[in-house]
Amino acid sequence: MSEGIVTASYIGATILFILALGGLSNQETARRGNLFGMIGMAVALLATMFAVTANLEILIVGMLIGASIGLVLAKRVQMTQMPELVAMLHSFVGLAAVLVGFANFMDPGRLQHFTGVELTIHDVETYLGILIGAITLSGSVIAFGKLSGKIGGNPMLIPGRHWFNLGLLLGSIYFCVVFVEQSAAGGGLNPLLIMTGIALLFGIHMVMAIGGADMPVVVSMLNSYSGWAAAATGFMLNNDLLIVTGALVGSSGAILSYIMCQAMNRKFLAVIAGGFGTTTGGGSSSASAEEQGEVVALQAPEVANLLADSKEIMIIPGYGMAVAQAQHIVNEITKTLRSKKINVRFGIHPVAGRMPGHMNVLLAEAKVPYDIVFEMDEINDDFPDIDVSIVIGANDIVNPSAQTDPDSPIAGMPVMECWKSKTTIVLKRSMATGYAGVQNPLFFKENTRMLFGDARASLDEVFKNL
Ligand code: NDP
Repeated sequence: MSEGIVTASYIGATILFILALGGLSNQETARRGNLFGMIGMAVALLATMFAVTANLEILIVGMLIGASIGLVLAKRVQMTQMPELVAMLHSFVGLAAVLVGFANFMDPGRLQHFTGVELTIHDVETYLGILIGAITLSGSVIAFGKLSGKIGGNPMLIPGRHWFNLGLLLGSIYFCVVFVEQSAAGGGLNPLLIMTGIALLFGIHMVMAIGGADMPVVVSMLNSYSGWAAAATGFMLNNDLLIVTGALVGSSGAILSYIMCQAMNRKFLAVIAGGFGTTTGGGSSSASAEEQGEVVALQAPEVANLLADSKEIMIIPGYGMAVAQAQHIVNEITKTLRSKKINVRFGIHPVAGRMPGHMNVLLAEAKVPYDIVFEMDEINDDFPDIDVSIVIGANDIVNPSAQTDPDSPIAGMPVMECWKSKTTIVLKRSMATGYAGVQNPLFFKENTRMLFGDARASLDEVFKNL
């Protein structure tokens, strides 16, 4: 294929990726955005394939293997496992950047293609690509462990951790200088390997130091890192499309991280340094359930009566709704209540669930109308006018101790102030804590009622009684 067609295809793919990002920023256009992204990726893949002149068969075999693994994984993965899958996919981008970086460095033609300043620039690109790739790789693997529960949620805070990070940063800069010097003389493998070790260590340390409740920022940050790793790979390979696509992912991930930081009331710069936020493992809010008092439990028929007698209802979904796959029955109940002229709205906390937009995706899947789904900021002041708030499998995002307990790991995080409504009904299976591992004083408030059990089974019962 001629170079011109390849370039035109790359520009087309870039435009499609930009349209995809634009579409994904809104629930109503998200499907179209996804479609643009898929077409863009198909165009990019085809153009890249046709631009390859040698070893095309290896490329095709590799693509077939990769596509088959992707298909099987996508078919098998449960909605609740999506965040782990995304973390794992980020780690693949990191791994690819590391492998491409080493392959590039070991390419025998490198010293013939580049000399002088050009060689230095190329070496720095290679070094940065491997550095960002290795941080993304190990950080994402640890994030995968934390999101899947294989690694505990408590932050691992080693003494002098910021000095440790600074040491790793200075070490990376030093070895970059050594690498560039040695590379010009035909060597450089050792400093490259040492830096890869440092970067892997940094990625592990950065994510291990982050407490459960702060994980949303990490997920979006690793998303951003994976984009920059791809962009760095694009520079190494001199591939414009990869540079632009990587930069798009990198910058949109950075914007998402910023939004997440604001949602969690954390500082962006502290995030980049790693190990931000939490200073204590549990805080006083980890007081046991007995210390907090008694809870009042209701049965499904009583909940149905409470709902039917209301005028204003706010539904607050959380991770438990995803686990129970209760979104469809939630939609049925919503329809029934609305047919009785009851105003039902949904309040979505920005970090509800286990990935950005998790609840919006589930509600859209169940066909809940978009115009009754609101962001936290839009409805948090309305709770005093709400008759019944129903908390469906949410915990951390409705924890008042974020406002009242400065020692809590979630201190300062804005939360849905549902306790200000006349009655709050909490659906969960037990008195277990949420992702951040903190006890929730909401459950013990005078106007809170618990409906224990799997959210879907409980709501099925409520629906029958309605
Ligand atoms: P939480 O994890 O705080 O609470 C979920 C609650 O759901 C649990 O207390 C659990 O209680 C209950 N639950 C689980 N399964 C069921 C079920 N089948 N039926 C009924 N209840 C169930 O979730 P939230 O959404 O409130 O908060 C999200 C948390 O996840 C925050 O700490 C956030 O920082 C973190 N996080 C968010 C990410 C994001 O991007 N959104 C990414 C990573 C972490 P029980 O076991 O008693 O049923």
